[in-house]
Amino acid sequence: MLIKADLHVHTIYSKDSLITPKDLIYYAKKRGLNACAVTDHNYLEGAYKIARETDFLIIPGMEVSSADGHIVALNVSELIPKGLSAIETVERIHKVGGVAIACHPYVFFKGCLKDNVCEAFDAIEVINARAFPFKNSMKKAEEAAERLKLSRVAGTDAHYGPQIGYGYTEIEVPEPTADAIAKAIVDGCCSPHGQPVPLVMNAKQQLMRIRRMVMKFSDRGN
Ligand SMILES: [Zn+2]
Ligand SMILES: [Zn+2]
Repeated sequence: MLIKADLHVHTIYSKDSLITPKDLIYYAKKRGLNACAVTDHNYLEGAYKIARETDFLIIPGMEVSSADGHIVALNVSELIPKGLSAIETVERIHKVGGVAIACHPYVFFKGCLKDNVCEAFDAIEVINARAFPFKNSMKKAEEAAERLKLSRVAGTDAHYGPQIGYGYTEIEVPEPTADAIAKAIVDGCCSPHGQPVPLVMNAKQQLMRIRRMVMKFSDRGN
């Protein structure tokens, strides 16, 4: 069967995301997805908590801030510490049965892996729907996947509900489980799809964040 999954979504367990567990499932279903990976920054427990509390297929994961750039770890059974080198991080992910994805490797900000992407990874996030510049970073990631013979995946890097599903991966699996999805990605039975998140939606996310900060601040004042 073919699964359509957004493999890069942040929830309120990441300080910079507005997505509640309820939003996650509402928007994932609305966008026609069958699964979603929860990949909060350096935090794993939230993903497992969400997975336990819903029937929707959740792939538990996290986004690790390695010393060399961000790495998405899917289906890991333990927290992967931040601050290790990219290679050490990938080794730790493999040791606990996970899938190591070089996420947004060529975007225009400091958290990207660039030349630290190597054969040790299982996959490259060829499409990151919030990547800037979108076309150029996608092209470079495609070239790296080709050169290193790595699987290609896509995700949104969503931090706001309506962004979910702009980037998604189609995965061919024998059964709809997180383990089967992880194996299929490693085996290359997947393809990246998607389009950039509209700028207006990113702007709305920033406005909502500011509103939330102001509300928190005024709550504290009362
Ligand atoms: Zn990142
Ligand atoms: Zn991210």
